[in-house]
Amino acid sequence: MGLKRPLIFLGPPGAGKGTQARRLSEMYHVPHLSTGDMLRDHVSRGTDLGRKAKPIMDRGELVPDEIVLGIVGERIGRPDCAHGFLLDGFPRTMPQAQKLDEILEKRRFRKPLAVNFLVDHDVLVRRVAGRRVCSVGGEIYNVHELPPGQDGKCLLDGGALIQRSDDRAEVVLDRLAAFERQTRPLIEYYRSTGDLEEVDGSASVEDVRKKLLEIFAEHSVDGHCA
Ligand code: AMP
Repeated sequence: MGLKRPLIFLGPPGAGKGTQARRLSEMYHVPHLSTGDMLRDHVSRGTDLGRKAKPIMDRGELVPDEIVLGIVGERIGRPDCAHGFLLDGFPRTMPQAQKLDEILEKRRFRKPLAVNFLVDHDVLVRRVAGRRVCSVGGEIYNVHELPPGQDGKCLLDGGALIQRSDDRAEVVLDRLAAFERQTRPLIEYYRSTGDLEEVDGSASVEDVRKKLLEIFAEHSVDGHCA
């Protein structure tokens, strides 16, 4: 199984993009390309790029386009992306969206389908502040929804659940502001070309997944790229 069109998950932090992307990439057997995860990997490995990105990420601002485009361009060129991929948290600026179009055209992929996750501001703030991530496999949890008796360990691999440094309450509002300023224009960009769908991201994980599968069926995205 693969994807005929690359998928883009758009939406503010806490909208549920990562949770859905993790599950759907397994289902379609395509890579889940999260620029946030890629940047955090550079930070934890202490690469030059990671050292440059860390203070910017900690302030809740966007890392410069050229850094992100370098990572994504290289990643999309790898063989495992040949049958499609799912972009989570990229593109986030107009120059990134335009460059992505060029990359996809050059590599002969079909036009991407963007899905915008709609969630109210107050829900986002609560979700991001309550988010915990497994330090081993990256599974995403929320302290407000953890099953009773769960003691801060991942249900999948027992890894410790930790809070991302940029999920602290002081940074959340800056990240939401960056979304409004730099990423929101992309919604109109993809709408204008007829490549945008929207989901109610405040619904349950299962209901959002069902809605996404309906959208993908309408757009016939299952199958192989190109
Ligand atoms: P995320 O995990 O998607 O919430 O991303 C975490 C942080 O990584 C963001 O707040 C940005 O600082 C940085 N980042 C992730 N993706 C991008 C992108 N496409 N462009 C610029 N910065 C990004």
